[in-house]
Amino acid sequence: MEENERIGRCVVAVDGPSGSGKSTVSRRLAVGLGARYLDTGAMYRAITWAALRSGIDLADAESVAKVAGEVDLRIGTDPQGYGVTVDGVTVDADIRGPEVTGAVSAVAAVPAVRALLVARQREMIAHAVRIVVEGRDIGSVVAPDANLKVFLTASEAARAARRSAEDAADVAVTAADLARRDLLDSTRKADPLTQVDDAVVLDTTELGIDEVVARLHALLTERGVA
Ligand code: C5P
Repeated sequence: MEENERIGRCVVAVDGPSGSGKSTVSRRLAVGLGARYLDTGAMYRAITWAALRSGIDLADAESVAKVAGEVDLRIGTDPQGYGVTVDGVTVDADIRGPEVTGAVSAVAAVPAVRALLVARQREMIAHAVRIVVEGRDIGSVVAPDANLKVFLTASEAARAARRSAEDAADVAVTAADLARRDLLDSTRKADPLTQVDDAVVLDTTELGIDEVVARLHALLTERGVA
């Protein structure tokens, strides 16, 4: 801990359901802190893209785990623009498409996939001095010693409206998709979406993104790590 303080180490864990504002808040916070940024959802999406490409049955956990173990997944940590590649192919746009979005929660529920990605995430965190990490299990599993744990929420209507605007999709269809993913993500056995006791809970419906980022920055300053 003393060594961490000396080099100004700072790890921020940001968890919450889809559309809660995690990505926008995490990126802005990282830029403000001069920190790296890790989007763990993009890693699960990239493995899902690879599994779909290979044509395997996604209900076959063993085959999904095999694909995850064989692909060369790379992800950058620049909050102003990171790239994701799978076996040298840039997948940034494809991993946001409906096919991957529809399948990712099933892939992310496979324990062997999680074990692999959690290990990669911990390694990346260990190599960064300052980093903001967003996902579903960051405060609970990936970085339980984070300097600050944040759990973002927002009303279902606000989350669906944000996501449908981003994807230019119908609000009702998006709302149904979010509800389905939230249910899968919070009820799976391996590392479900968890609000840990020591997380600061903020509702982005009421506060707005700028206010949330300002509050988190103030909390980190209070804790002596900003
Ligand atoms: O954050 P994003 O919506 O891109 O995440 C896509 C999916 O990846 C989530 O719905 C969830 O199934 C999975 N995920 C996860 N654990 C994380 C991050 C994402 O299971 N830490």
